[in-house]
Amino acid sequence: MESKYNATVIGKIMITPDIMVLRVNADNPRAEFESGQYTVLGLYGHEVRSLNSEAEHKFSPNDKLIRRAYSIASHRAASNELEFYISQVKDGQLTPRVFGLEQGDRLFVGEKIVGMFKLSDTPKGMDIVMVATGTGVAPYISFLRSHIAENSDINMAVIHGAAHQWDLGYYSELSFLASTFPNFHYFPTLTDADETWQGHKLWIEEMLEQGILASEANIAIAPEKTHFFLCGNPKMAKGISAWLGQYEYIKHSRKAPGALHVEEF
Ligand SMILES: Cc1cc2nc3c(=O)[nH]c(=O)nc-3n(C[C@H](O)[C@H](O)[C@H](O)COP(=O)(O)OP(=O)(O)OC[C@H]3O[C@@H](n4cnc5c(N)ncnc54)[C@H](O)[C@@H]3O)c2cc1C
Repeated sequence: MESKYNATVIGKIMITPDIMVLRVNADNPRAEFESGQYTVLGLYGHEVRSLNSEAEHKFSPNDKLIRRAYSIASHRAASNELEFYISQVKDGQLTPRVFGLEQGDRLFVGEKIVGMFKLSDTPKGMDIVMVATGTGVAPYISFLRSHIAENSDINMAVIHGAAHQWDLGYYSELSFLASTFPNFHYFPTLTDADETWQGHKLWIEEMLEQGILASEANIAIAPEKTHFFLCGNPKMAKGISAWLGQYEYIKHSRKAPGALHVEEF
């Protein structure tokens, strides 16, 4: 059987035993993409599963290429080197094999980079709120790496919900951007923080309800002024979409443009 592998692991940064930043080098360059888009990663069933995983919920034959979608965290002009932010589903088919990879190992990376969750769909001059849970922050890293420098005239905010301090991947990059760009605001919030955490401990809906965007980022919750992006847990996406409904936010689609953009993992 000819292997479909077309890329090499060049970096594996463990944020926790179940969250990692994975950097790959594709054998052939990819065309320039839009920040926020995704591609596919794939590994064969014969690859070793990580030591801290569990039995997979469904058996993967040795010769099956298991493929799943992953948002790209890289700058949109990255061509060969692509970065992903991945959480391990312990009984999943693909992620325990991804967590078993080491530097220099080979894998499959989709030739095409696709998706509708793009900052470029937002009309010029709009403020941008990027809401994420867990690894849902990945596309926003691409948004910011690609576009923050050219958007000094609008306000941008990331609201990132996670369980513990150590689950906040990209904390230092986002904190650095917040301290460097006066128009960028970063609101991490934790549901299970320990006593060392001095930051927010609210549910994302509660933060919005308390008016944090207006008071700390000068951002209005109004579809004609501000576009919302929601990425991550489907429950969060549903809850915040419903909450934004009271402000007449409409979900964006190809046929009907709206100020609410949603990507569920
Ligand atoms: C557009 C897009 C972008 C994404 N970006 C990211 C990203 O940036 N980072 C990230 O970490 N993830 C991302 N995901 C999610 C990713 O594609 C995978 O779904 C995730 O990594 C789990 O894959 P897996 O093969 O390990 O788990 P799977 O084997 O797919 O299992 C997932 C879960 O569903 C349950 N399950 C699935 N099928 C069955 C079944 N038949 N019976 C019982 N239970 C079942 C399993 O028990 C398990 O808990 C994205 C998804 C989409 C659609």
